[in-house]
Amino acid sequence: MSRPVTVVTGGSRGIGAATCLRLAVDGHDVVVGYVSDGAAAEWIATGVRANGARCVTVKADTSVEADVDRLFETAADRLGPVTGLVNNAGVTGPFGRLADTDPAVLREVVEVNLLGVLLCSRRAARVMAAGGGGAIVNVSSAAATLGSPGEYVHYAATKAAVDTLTTGLAKELGPDNIRVNAVAPGVIDTEIHARNGDPERPERIAASIPLRRPGRADEIASAIAWLMSPEASYTTGAVLRVAGGR
Ligand code: NAP
Repeated sequence: MSRPVTVVTGGSRGIGAATCLRLAVDGHDVVVGYVSDGAAAEWIATGVRANGARCVTVKADTSVEADVDRLFETAADRLGPVTGLVNNAGVTGPFGRLADTDPAVLREVVEVNLLGVLLCSRRAARVMAAGGGGAIVNVSSAAATLGSPGEYVHYAATKAAVDTLTTGLAKELGPDNIRVNAVAPGVIDTEIHARNGDPERPERIAASIPLRRPGRADEIASAIAWLMSPEASYTTGAVLRVAGGR
């Protein structure tokens, strides 16, 4: 039987990297997408291959249509027809109130978190429909329902849009045997917080999380891997919250 070929955007670090490694263990061949950190992507690719999977890294900005085309073309050329997509690449921009946020940041967050997911999903829908089916998992956020006042309401809004996209696309692509789901993580201990100027955020917020700790990237990867797997064969249009009860 042929192995699933899965594209993970933002596979070089954090949740995406943990997902690449987990999917390799589960028998997927993996495309590690990244935008800037080629060394990190190669490091993850080494780990993926060590688990017996084929792997290719592709530098591609998901908000740029030509990059997305190249991402999927490289995947097909090197690994075969794409059967899976994890729309994980995402950015928050610096933390702050909307009134103080640079419009360039707003544009980037919308373009990566929403347009990027739309472009990748559009391309995947075409490839997977032609191939007889597939699975897409979108990485949303608990922020979509919390709203994230004072931190990044613009980011939260893009993730709410991802949830709505998940609902609609699952209905649109069900007849093509393509399942579309989302995972909505809570606060997860990755570099995203430090890179946006608040390295202490996960530990600071821990007290307000019912499980009293931030999550780990591998705990999100487990949920993504389940939704990608045949175990979830009748699950589509779901938004699975993995947020420690928050
Ligand atoms: P992270 O550690 O900052 O990693 C971000 C990844 O996305 C990196 O691989 C980065 O590539 C890639 N990326 C960024 N912009 C991109 C672009 N324009 N095109 C392609 N790739 C791009 O982030 P994370 O914490 O793992 O978050 C992953 C996803 O989970 C995001 O969608 C985020 O919104 C969501 N999430 C995170 C948390 C959390 O607390 N960490 C909570 C809820 C939801 P480079 O390495 O090349 O820069």
